[in-house]
Amino acid sequence: MAEGDRNYLISLFRTIPGFPAKNILFRDFVPVLADARAYALLINALAQALPVSLDDFDYIGGLESRGFLIGAPLALKLGKGFIPFRKAGKLPPEVYHQEYTLEYGKAAIEIEKNTIHKGDRVLIVDDLIATGGTAAAAEDLLKQAGAHVAGYSFVMELDGLPGRRALGDHPISVLMGMP
Ligand code: AMP
Repeated sequence: MAEGDRNYLISLFRTIPGFPAKNILFRDFVPVLADARAYALLINALAQALPVSLDDFDYIGGLESRGFLIGAPLALKLGKGFIPFRKAGKLPPEVYHQEYTLEYGKAAIEIEKNTIHKGDRVLIVDDLIATGGTAAAAEDLLKQAGAHVAGYSFVMELDGLPGRRALGDHPISVLMGMP
């Protein structure tokens, strides 16, 4: 991406201290979506930074909900199908269900059983990796189906958090590190 385009894109990212909880620096790319030029720049940048080649994955999997906003347009651009990884309770049965631990408490994600099959390879996409717990749970979910993570694409990575370590040896691409 040209430097001017990159600066333009970054100018639309926001940081909100203390949201949604005290001590959190919330990193928000949502204003990018309202700007057609910036949205296209973002999706093109993700496509150019793919951590694996196009032949190495069958689907893009987006993590609810900001992973949908980038994962679906990326899938269309790349000619791949899109699989939504939803928060528990949103999809009709039958689903694969995976619990995981958050800093405070627990969460769970689900995928529909009939959208994923043994041997499928999925590139997981999300806006941000912090601890890596959500992205690692996506792999556990795919394993239940006999499917695999092909790699991970994130827009942002929180510097100083051990997120990548939770993801083993999988290829990872990140557009921006955030201090
Ligand atoms: P984690 O499982 O800890 O890697 O957290 C990743 C998920 O939580 C992603 O879906 C992010 O959208 C969200 N998230 C975690 N920390 C932040 C943050 N500081 N700002 C914005 N989103 C965050």
